[in-house]
This record gives sequence, structure tokens and C-alpha cells, in this order.
Amino acid sequence: MVDFQKIEAKWQKKWEDKRIFESNPSKQDKYFVAIPYPYTSGPFHIGHGRTYATADIFTRYHIMKGENVLWPMGFHVTGTPVLAISQKIKNDDWKTMQMFKDYISLHTKDPKEINKILSSFSEPKNVMSYFAETFRQDFKAMGCAIDWRRSFTTTDPEYNKFIEWQFHKLKDSGFITKGKYPVLYCKNCKNAVGEDDIKGGDEIKAKVEEFTVIKFPFGKKYIVAATFRPETIFGATNLWINPRAKYVELNVNNEIWIMSKLASEKFKFQNKGLEVTGEILGKELIGKKAKNPINEKQLPIIEASFVDPNNATGVVYSVPAHAPYDYVALKNSGAKIDMISIIKLEGYGDFPAKEIVDSMGIEKQTETEKLKKATEEIYKSEFYSGVLKENCGKYAGKKISQIKDLLIKDFRKKNLIGSFYEVVALEKPVKCRCGGDVIAAILDDQWFIDYGNTKWKEKARECLKNMEIVPEAYKKQFEDTIEWLHERPCARRRGLGTPLPFNPEWIIESLSDSTIYMAFYTVIHHIRANRIKPEQLTPEFWDYVFLEKGSIKKTEKETGISKDVLKIMHDEFEYWYPLDLRHTGIAHITNHLTFFIFNHVAVFPKKQWPVRITLNELLIREGRKMSKSIGNVIPLVDIPKQYGADLFRLYIAFTADLSTVVDWKESDVLAAKSKLFQFYGIVEEALKSKVSEEKQINVWLRSRFARNIKAATEALDKYNPRQYILHAFYNTINDISYFRRRGGELGSIKDLVLKWIKLLAPIIPHSCEELWSLSGSKNFISAEKWPEPDKKSISLDIENYEELLMNLVADIQSIIKLIGKKPEKITVFTPSEWKYVLVSKAKELKSAGRLQDAMKKIMEIEKVKANGSQASKIITRLMQDPGKIPEFDVKADKEFSLYEESKEYLKKEFNAKIEIIQEKNSKEAKAKQAMPNKPAILVE
Ligand SMILES: [Zn+2]
Repeated sequence: MVDFQKIEAKWQKKWEDKRIFESNPSKQDKYFVAIPYPYTSGPFHIGHGRTYATADIFTRYHIMKGENVLWPMGFHVTGTPVLAISQKIKNDDWKTMQMFKDYISLHTKDPKEINKILSSFSEPKNVMSYFAETFRQDFKAMGCAIDWRRSFTTTDPEYNKFIEWQFHKLKDSGFITKGKYPVLYCKNCKNAVGEDDIKGGDEIKAKVEEFTVIKFPFGKKYIVAATFRPETIFGATNLWINPRAKYVELNVNNEIWIMSKLASEKFKFQNKGLEVTGEILGKELIGKKAKNPINEKQLPIIEASFVDPNNATGVVYSVPAHAPYDYVALKNSGAKIDMISIIKLEGYGDFPAKEIVDSMGIEKQTETEKLKKATEEIYKSEFYSGVLKENCGKYAGKKISQIKDLLIKDFRKKNLIGSFYEVVALEKPVKCRCGGDVIAAILDDQWFIDYGNTKWKEKARECLKNMEIVPEAYKKQFEDTIEWLHERPCARRRGLGTPLPFNPEWIIESLSDSTIYMAFYTVIHHIRANRIKPEQLTPEFWDYVFLEKGSIKKTEKETGISKDVLKIMHDEFEYWYPLDLRHTGIAHITNHLTFFIFNHVAVFPKKQWPVRITLNELLIREGRKMSKSIGNVIPLVDIPKQYGADLFRLYIAFTADLSTVVDWKESDVLAAKSKLFQFYGIVEEALKSKVSEEKQINVWLRSRFARNIKAATEALDKYNPRQYILHAFYNTINDISYFRRRGGELGSIKDLVLKWIKLLAPIIPHSCEELWSLSGSKNFISAEKWPEPDKKSISLDIENYEELLMNLVADIQSIIKLIGKKPEKITVFTPSEWKYVLVSKAKELKSAGRLQDAMKKIMEIEKVKANGSQASKIITRLMQDPGKIPEFDVKADKEFSLYEESKEYLKKEFNAKIEIIQEKNSKEAKAKQAMPNKPAILVE
């Protein structure tokens, strides 16, 4: 039994000892790979492993192609998560301590040691260095070809200097702004938060949306209701209030606004100094009336338990003619209220909401999926094609899409409305990683990166246009993200990271300090080797090294760094840049990856803009999402021990295309494992075999192998690991197995087998290294040259004839299955020669698109004509089913001798007497059925 665990550890150590993945500039062509540096707050699972294994396949392939490849790796620490962990551990938070105990025990078994590490976590830097170290081990145990000399964390002082420079650059270009702006905000951290800080942040897509608040006069006060469709105010029939909720009176600019208590608590984060002047229970408002501010119409206040006091203002105004939710609520309430139609919509009558609800058969407010669909449909149609009716004053006759902005402006001027910001997300409630509620707040003096800048967007679009995105279908998502991105808060009041250089009380947040750091990898090892101090890393230093701005002499004088060192660093940056490949998960398109494009075009000249992004989907397990709460997470650290890195890589990269979710299934993993053993066994045996002679079947195998190398190479050039593995691994294993059944000997294909291990080195590097060394080679296979297909050995003709034999075997097998008994004798009849003439002509007519002439044209041939009715029957059949016409020209004598020479093989396969007879020499009725490429078979 092969001990893969031992083999893997052995080669990982050898690679490290010989430093074969450390890359320096050279005369070779370069290839620069970077995947996002991981966040150091918890362990990797196999989903991360998918991304890393995929990146490693690409990396190793390019090394073997003879390029000088660099893949470095750093660690991300910026923000509050690591701080929060330390704080909780300091406070003896039981749940957090248990969770991190579990994490630590993945790598450490001694309980004393676990406790020691855990208590060290009260210092944030220990959390960071612990996870950085375990990540490094995990990467190594996966076999990743990483240059570790260039590693860093985002709190290193050298890195801080680099980020300061980046922010000076952005500010100089006018891309950094400051002001009041609504942001996602954690009430507990008292800080703006981004995707990285939010639980499930990349999936739930939380964002702040502005609602229009309509002020309904209620005596001298106002009841306020929030909406995205202020134009519908003309059709309002009543207000909905939750009788069980608490409401408050709030002093807003000397007006009294009534909203839910929960809403008021959020609203205070959007407006400074608001004061609560009174409290009312929802039920006290029921039955009273408020006024429509636009037409003074009295609107009854009706009780509605569906009103969520924690959503927007906790008050809803009802427009049953045009809002499906309101229509259903009104119907269910039994209140006698007439609907007011205000929008004319093609294809609908006066009450589109009623029509769609009736046609979808919606009965209750609890049918939220259907109601959501109905609402979206009506909202969209009315917005783009609906025309306002006469009862809408000066807006009558206009399309909503044309007047909406004007209407809001008018209402605002008349002081009829206000704004309420609310968090909108695919899943609510939205929680910070610290556990606190995330709400919408307006911060004074908030700093932003202005991704809304039109000139900047233009440049980003240009960069994207010239980039390769794989799978290509995702390019559109990048285009869309560039369109909708706008100001984004780029700094927080607390957290780890780099202080804003022009306002150091603010810390640059984690999605803003992780955009162009690939440049930093190119020089950090020189900074350390030359003991350059952080204070020497001035903006002028980076300007020279990355942009060749300013004179080298002046930079030397200003920084105290010698000219030679400056030049080495500048040259190294110029050598590696631009980045050739960024590989990561699809979820990062809407943030990380698009910011990466924006910031590169902001800081660097066009020749340094990124070249390519490749992406992969997620991983689930046995049909379910992996999650801590279900308890089905497989930590990456378990892979080498339980499965082996090579098996993991093989399985994960072959199971699904990059754009498809991998569903980790134990049974499939085991199937891949047996194939891996099969591969290993074949190669081992081949290497031990005595050299033997080539046979006819070797010609076939060599042709197949050459074509498999070609296809595998093309697949990797297109960043398609699955197709690569299909050809390089699975097809070739099957071909060699078949070759052996056909009497081929492993001793005759030793050269082919050596090429084969090279072909597989990017996907199963450890096994390939071991087998390579068994072959007597002293070099690493990881550094060997990528195998070229031997084009001269490709013969489609030989492959086609071999396929005839495979088809014959398959046909015999199905006949045996049908009759259900062991055969004693199998007779194969090959057809008379005139049938070959017939079929050949049919093929010619088919490819000329003139099959309709077949009967006439073929029957003109003497040899065919002589067989009268039998011939015309065959022609009719072929015309009806042209798929039966063989793709290649089968020759009568070749087909016969193929079967004749394979008699021994057939005898062995079926353990029966085999006879091959030509149709003309047989009296069997069956023989007449023989056709070229489809011999007649008699099983007795
Ligand atoms: Zn928080």
C-alpha cells in the first residue's frame, strides 16, 4: 500500500529545503500569481482549499512551461475582528473561548499547550501570528508553490508606510472625499462596518438604502411612513399601524414626528440631537385619522399585525390599487375602503395589484415569496411604462421614470417629506462579527473613497476591457459593479491597520488597504534584507521604486537608502509587474476584485494594469452548505491526514468546472482515491518492467497519448483544470488499461509513462515527485519541462479502426446480456465489398449536403445496382438516419483483417470460440445484415 501521507511530507520538506519556489528576476519570461491573503481570525476549511489548490495547479503549470513564476503570500489583519477576539478572551467570554479552543486543537493536541495558546490570545498580535503560522502549515501541507520570503501582515510598519503612500496618491487624484454620508454601522463597535466585518458579509449583500418619508399630518403632529415609491401618495387610502408596537413622538427640527420606538432609536443615528417628547401605544392610534399631505384627504388608521416596527419607520401607508401587499392586507382586514387608481398601465385595468394577486392566486400576507414576485413585477412595469392619471395633479400624463426625481424635489421644497436610511439585505437581521446590530447611520466627517468618480470609472472600464476574466461569463458582473459603485467609507474610528496619513485618528479599513499590495510583495524582502527602517519608506521612496518618479540621487539623499538598493527594488518591481493572475472566489467580485482594478488604475500607469482574473465557485458538502452550526465543516488541516493532499487536489479540481459549486461527496472522493492508486500502480509497475517490444496497439496508444497531451495543454492554457484532468489523468488511465487488455506491455511504454508523470505533476505533485525519483531521476519533476505532444505519432486512422473493434466488443457484450447465457461460439460477419462502395458514396453525398439524391446517384454504380432491392433498402435506411453513415471511410480489407488479427483478444475477452467470416463466404441469413463499421454478429 502506498503511504501518501509519508510521501507528501517528504517532498514538501525537500521543496522547502531546496527553496525551489523562491523566485528572483531573471532573463526568463515571468509569470506573477497572487491570491487574496487570508484573514487571520479562524482556521481554513476545504472551501478555501479549493481556491488554493486551483491556484497551485496554474502556478505549477507555468513553472513547467519554463516561465519564472512568483507566488507570494501575506496575511490580512486589518479591522476589528482580531481585536474583538482578544477582547472577548480577555473578558472570559465562554462561547468565544470554546470556539477558539476547538480551532487550536485542530493543530495542537496537548490540553496544556492549548490553554497556553488560548490565553495568549488576549493580545491581538498573538491571534494574528498564531493563525498566520497555521495557515503557512496548511498551505505547505497542500503542496502550494509559494515563495515565503515575501510574507508580511497588514500591520507591519513597512506595510503601513506603503498604504500611507497609496492613500496620498488617491487623495492627490481627488478620489478621497470627506463628509456626511449614510453608512452601515455597528451599534456595539460604534464604528462604520463593511462586508468583512459583517457576519456572512459577502453573501447577504447588506447595503444602506434611502427611503422617502412621507409626513401625514395628524393634528399638529405628523405620522411618518417610509416608501420607495413616493409617487403613489396620490393613491393612498389608509395608514397601517401595529397595535402591539410602541410608538414615540420625536422632535425633528421643531416638528413632532410619530414613528415606532425601534425606528426612533435608529433614526437618532441619522440625525443628531433628536429628543423623544412622548410615547404612544400602537392601539391608541387605531381608528383615528391622519391627512394625506398632498390632497388633505382623511386616511383612517387601521390595525395591521404585519407591520414590522423594526423595519423603516414602523408605519405603512396603503396603496391597494398598485401595491400587492397592501391589496392583500386590505382584503384580509375586511375594512370597507375604495381603492384609488392613479397609474395607467398597458395590459392591466384600473387595479394592477388586484389583478396580479388574483392571477397568481395569492390569498394571505404570509405568502411572501409570491407577494415579493408580484410586487417586483408591478413596481418595475409601473416605473418604466406606467403613466400617471388625472388625479395626480401636475404630474398627470407623465411616465413615473420621467418625473420621479422632480416629484421628490417638489415634495421636499414643500416640506412634505424627509429621508430615512435603512439597511437592506438578502437576510436580516444584519449582525456585526462582534454580535452587535448593524444599522444605517450618518457620520460626520466620514472619509470615503469615491468610486463614483466618472473619470475613474472610465479608466476602470478600460482596464477591465483588456483583462481576461475566466470563466468569461463573470465579466458582466465586473462591468455592473463598476457602474454602481459609489462613495465607500474607507476608514474607521477603531481597529487594526494603517492610520489615514492626513487624519490619523481614522484607521484605513480592510477592503481599502488590500487592493494593490501585490506590488509590495516585489520589494518587501529587499527592505528587510537591507534593514531599511519604516521612517525611510517615505512617499518619495515609493514614488521612485514603483513609478520611477523623481531622481534616484535625490531619493537616495532623502531616504538614506543607497542608489544600488533603490535600483534593485525598482527593477524587481518592473520585472514582476503587471500581475498576470489573480485567482479567488466568485463572491469577491463585487468588492475586493473590483476595488483591485480601480486602485491599480488610480495609482499605476497602464503598462502595470492587471492582466487576468480567474474565479471559482464555492464548495458544499453532501448537498448542504458547510457551517459551524450544522457541524459539517471539514477543516483543511484534516485533509493531508485523512485523505492526502494529492487526492484532495485531484478530486476538487475534477469534480466541477470553476463556475460550478463543488459538492464534496465522500463516495466520490473514494472513487477518485481508487483511481489515484490505479495510476500509481501502473507507473510503479512500468518503471520496474523489463524493456519490451512495441506491438500494433502501441501505435494506437501513442496516438491517443499525443492527443491527450495536446488537449490537456490547451485546457490549462484556457485555465480549465477539469478538462486538463479529464485528458491527462482519466482518459490516459483508461487508455493504458485498454492497451494492456489488447496485449500491450508496460515495458514498451516506459518513455510514455515518464512523460505522463510530468503531465500530471501540476495536479498531483507529491506522487509525481516520488515516481519521478523512482525512475532514477535526481531532479525535481516540479522543475521539469512541460511535455510536448509527439505530433508525428498522431494517427486518426489507426484510432478509428481501433474504435471499430471497441464497438464490436460492446455490441457483443450487449447481445450476451440480452440472451443471458455464456456464449460458446461467436461469429462476426463482415459485409460484401459493394456495401463499402455504397456507404462511401453516401458519405460523399452527405458531406456535400446532397443526400436527397442518394437513391439515384448510388444506384448508378454498377456494383451496387447488381444488388437491387437489398441495396435500395439500405440506401433508404441511411437517408432516414444519416447518423448511421460512418464518419470515416472504412476499407473492406482493413476491417476484415482488423477483426481477424484480434481473434485472440476477442477469445480472451469472451472465453468463446471466435470466427470471422466475410458475407460472401457465408450461407447464414444473419450475414446479410453486415454493414461497414457494423459487422453482423451471431452468438451461439
Ligand atoms: Zn461590532
